Formats: sequence, structure tokens, C-alpha cells
Amino acid sequence: MSPPSQSPLLDLIRSRIAQHGPMGLDEYMALCLGHPQHGYYMTRDPFGAGGDFTTAPEISQLFGEMIGVWLADLWIKFGKPSDFILLEVGPGRGTLMADIMRATKRVPGFHDAAKIHLMEISPVLRNAQSKVLVNYETRWIDGLEALNSAIPVFVIGNEFLDALPVRHFVRKGETWAERVVGLGEGNTLQFGLKDADYVGLESLGDRQLKVKDEEILELSPAVSGFIKTVNELLIKQSGAALFLDYGYAKTAAGETLQAVRSHRFENVLEHPGESDLTAHVDFENVGRLAKQDGVFIHGPIEQGIFLKNLGIEFRAQKLIDGLQLNSSSVCGVDEPQIEMIKSGLHRLIDTDQMGSLFKAIALCHDPEIIPAGFHEGL
Ligand code: SAH
Repeated sequence: MSPPSQSPLLDLIRSRIAQHGPMGLDEYMALCLGHPQHGYYMTRDPFGAGGDFTTAPEISQLFGEMIGVWLADLWIKFGKPSDFILLEVGPGRGTLMADIMRATKRVPGFHDAAKIHLMEISPVLRNAQSKVLVNYETRWIDGLEALNSAIPVFVIGNEFLDALPVRHFVRKGETWAERVVGLGEGNTLQFGLKDADYVGLESLGDRQLKVKDEEILELSPAVSGFIKTVNELLIKQSGAALFLDYGYAKTAAGETLQAVRSHRFENVLEHPGESDLTAHVDFENVGRLAKQDGVFIHGPIEQGIFLKNLGIEFRAQKLIDGLQLNSSSVCGVDEPQIEMIKSGLHRLIDTDQMGSLFKAIALCHDPEIIPAGFHEGL
């Protein structure tokens, strides 16, 4: 036995492997992110310059304002139901929901109808959310099964699906091996392979043909399970969902699991519980599951195009015009503020920033309802 490390989570993972054998990447990822005491999200607020990474709502208020516009339009297209569930999954600091509510303040009836629900695993982030949403009645839930009413449900999730665990399968001729986390020399964590027993592989159909010998196929049974539950919810209660995330439009071979700490990439097996683990989202799979369940999809479309379709550039210009108009001869024009709006806009929509890598997809139970923003370019 090696001496205990500085990390209680690393010790726990080692002893689990010693007892039960190598663990799948999904179990590893779930422990790293969501272990009740030592999981990454359970112990910290990871966002912003002093944290590990930044997300779209934290970059600029414009993002949440556009999602607010999208939701208000959807609500009108749904016939302005007098009650609906507005559910955000993985709401982080609550910034997106706060911006949505601010942006929809002047839409008559929207605030009265919206019943805010937040699905959040982290007590630290729940606390942050309760502070920024103090003026709104808000309900926290642990999972989608907690929703059980007859009213429409609108689900939004930004950078949520990428936090759900993945599994890696390596093609070995006609069969597959699963990549697992085991113990190497000096009790360090290291990757290994075991025979794959995941039944989901059989349902892949043509998609697995794209993977050559020795290549890795990354699958997320957790994303699939979550999307299937969303589909059921949309069909049972009526409604729509919008997910924004980094990911690819077509299923492809290769791994995208990554660890980020202090805005830098690091080894996935180093510092378990102290770096953010995410994987790109397979949007083709999301769309395929929706169609299978009789739900209609829009997109995936690049985030930059989606936000431009919703009018983000006009909104940015309006904010800038407002600042220029309000400038007095004493204070002058607030140049730093104007620069912040411009740089936030560019980070969100430029193709070499978040504009292309990030994508949006919407799901809706009703083929007649076309959510805003999904046409290709203006
Ligand atoms: N949407 C936010 C935060 C993205 S980070 C933003 O864009 O800024 C991922 C979020 O999902 C965090 O709030 C994290 O705590 C939450 N999360 C991760 N796994 C979860 C799970 N299984 N159930 C609920 N929330 C989860």
C-alpha cells in the first residue's frame, strides 16, 4: 500500500479499484465531478477569471438576453400558456436565468406564467443561484422525475450535457474493448482495457462503421438517458428544450474527454476532483434519439449563427448607442464598457471563438411550432 495522498478523492478511487477492479470512465467522471464531499462541482464555484473556466452567460449579458427573447417567442408560439415550467438544467451561478428574467420583464404575462425550476447537483452553486434569483420564486430539483404536472415545460441547458459522464470503446476488429481506469506502478491511476459489455453498442447501427480498428468511440449513456427522459417529458406535458454546448454535428471516431484547471488543459487522470472534466456533445445522437421518440428537432446550428439570427448584434449596438447617448460632458463616453460589450459579442459569435465549436439544438413535441433562430444565416 502506498501512503495516503493529499487528495481524499484519489485515495477513495484507488481503494475502489483495489477492491472492485478497474472502473469505467463514466464511474470515474461521475466521482470526479459529483462525489458528495469531494466532487469538483460539489466543493467550489469554478467560473470566471479566478476559477477554472468561463461560460457564455458569464462572458456577456447578451447571451442570456437572447435566450430570453427565444423563450418569450416560444411562449407566444405555444399560445401564451398561463402556467409553464421554465427549467434550467445545470444553471451554474444562475446568471443565465437572471438575464433571461431581466430580458423578459416587459413581455406581458411571461413572468406570471413562468414557474422557475433549477436542476442542480452542487450545493455551493445552488446557494449562488438562490442569491441572484432572490426576487423570483424558484424551486430546485434533483432530477427530471420530480416534474409531474400537466403544464408545458421549457427546458434550457448551457454547457450541461458536456458535464455528463462518457464511456470509451476501442474497436478490436469485430469486437470492442472498453477503456477503464486502473492502477499502475506506484499506485498511480492509469488507463487500461477490458472486454466491452455495453449493450448500447449494438444499437449504434451504421454509426459504428465510421470507427476503424483501434480507434476510440466515445459514447455517453448518461446524455442518451437524459435526452430520452426529456423527450418523454415533452410528449407527456408538451414543451420544448434548448441545449447549447460544444460538440460535433455528426458522430465521429475519437475522444474529446478533457480536463481543465485554471484555464489550462491537463491530464484527465491527474488531480481527480480538482479539474473540470467535460466531453464534447454528439449532437447527431441527440437528434437521433429525439426523432426515435417522436420529438421534432431544430439544428444543430452553430452558436454564432443562432445568436445572430436572434438579433445579438442589434442588441449589442443598442447597448452601445445607449451608453454613448447617456455620456455627459463631465464623464465622457464609457469606453471600457463599450469595449466590454464588443469583446463579449465577439467571443460569443466569432467562428474562431465560441461561434462555431458551440452549437444549439432545440427539441419540440409539436411539428407546427418552429422555435426562433434555427435558419441558416440571414
Ligand atoms: N450553465 C452554466 C453552468 C455550466 S457548468 C453556465 O453556462 O455558466 C455545468 C453545470 O451543471 C454546473 O452548474 C454543475 O454543477 C451542473 N451539473 C453537473 N452535473 C449535474 C447533474 N448530474 N445534475 C445536475 N446538475 C449538474
